Amino acid sequence: MIDLAKAGWNLNEIGNIDHRKVKAPYIRMIGSKEGEHGDYVFSYDLRFTQPNIEYMDTKVLHSLEHFMLVGFEKYFGDHFVSISPMGCQTGFYLILINEYDFDVISQSFKKVMEDIVKADSVPLSTEVNCGQAKHHTLKEVKELVKLILANEKNWAKVF
Ligand SMILES: [Zn+2]
Repeated sequence: MIDLAKAGWNLNEIGNIDHRKVKAPYIRMIGSKEGEHGDYVFSYDLRFTQPNIEYMDTKVLHSLEHFMLVGFEKYFGDHFVSISPMGCQTGFYLILINEYDFDVISQSFKKVMEDIVKADSVPLSTEVNCGQAKHHTLKEVKELVKLILANEKNWAKVF
């Protein structure tokens, strides 16, 4: 059996939460599903901006999506399933298989963010790889990511 509390998660923060009470940025487990063969799929809420207060521009959202797609694939390998932007423009859904250790996830997230600060282009931002190749911004993504990194000590605190 998996022990989510031991893996660093606050069980009261899993599932539906009151979006008026959260404090972005944070990393939260949304939920998990066990497959027939004992594998677990986990969904996570990577919250970048404060819900109902501040929204990411769609270019920022899009470029962050590209960076995290490449970065999480690199750092999670076979544990990585997908990353996708939230329609509310305040965060992302991260899906992993058989990985639920908070420290492992937050440290991988940190590496992806640090890689963005050092990057000189948005990955896969060509018409071959992307459906709107002109809709990207490296500069604004870096500005946001620097704020997220400066807030690392709060990533484990949802409320
Ligand atoms: Zn794209």
